[in-house]
Amino acid sequence: MPKKPSTPPSRGRCPKRSTTSAACSNWPSPARIKKKACAPSLKNENQPGRGNSRVWEYNDLILAFQELKLNNKAVVAHASLRAFGQVTGGADSIATALMYSMGAVIMPTHTYKTMITPASGPANNAVNYSRAQAWNRLAEPFDPNMPADVMMGVVPESLRQRPQASRSMHPILSFAGVNAGKILQTQTLENPFAPLMEIANADGWVVLLGVDHTANTAIHLGEKLASRKQFTRWALTENGTVTCPGFPGCSAGFEALEPALRPHTVVIQVGQAAIRAMPMRMVIVQTMQAIKKDPLALLCDRADCERCAAVREGLKN
Ligand SMILES: [Zn+2]
Repeated sequence: MPKKPSTPPSRGRCPKRSTTSAACSNWPSPARIKKKACAPSLKNENQPGRGNSRVWEYNDLILAFQELKLNNKAVVAHASLRAFGQVTGGADSIATALMYSMGAVIMPTHTYKTMITPASGPANNAVNYSRAQAWNRLAEPFDPNMPADVMMGVVPESLRQRPQASRSMHPILSFAGVNAGKILQTQTLENPFAPLMEIANADGWVVLLGVDHTANTAIHLGEKLASRKQFTRWALTENGTVTCPGFPGCSAGFEALEPALRPHTVVIQVGQAAIRAMPMRMVIVQTMQAIKKDPLALLCDRADCERCAAVREGLKN
């Protein structure tokens, strides 16, 4: 059964006061981050009562996102519409506000229903080959117009549908973006997270909108750069089955990186949604440092997690 590498739960529990960060300049070493207080939170300040019933308009989102001061930066964004509460225009408003508030924006538009499993394959690959055969009949060939998996949330699919958007062509791990043609073109079957490296090399940022670090795909890039075990998966395409190396592990334990990233994170609050932004280089550096300190760092605690178990097994050899 195809499994999603990143789960975007909606959660808004960040502090009301913000910190702001200067972009990193000492790649790959951690850069000094200058902190200062940001503008006051937008959290329901003018609303009666608890304010949870406020309807957020597109202009509210534009004003909030502009506080992040990322209008000349490339970003990868992960979002939960539900975390915002009521938004006029829904996911379209969030996607469009992102598009006009960031220098360039990409979001994951992964398509897990293309996944197919051969009868046999690499050992310790977190795949039960015989059991997976039953699911192969559900696989659909990748199509550039295939909607993003519902597990990605509705905002990435909305961004993909913007007339200005383009999409990379990985049959499982594609990204869609605006003003991001060169970034998206770097993706290959062998290097699915190349667009993230491109953003990191351009001093780009990660923006988490109402989701936590379990949705933070850049941590997967940090894992790869730390030489953590990667997996092999397969996808159905119009040209047959293709092998997709470099498939990431499980992200369920990624929130453990939050304390290390907190000092480098800008936080604003829009209604019920905490919006957190941080330099992508810092995400990568902190991930690599965490794994260097503890090779089991950021793995999840689920006893039945096949990918985390495979990482642990690989470390025994
Ligand atoms: Zn896991």
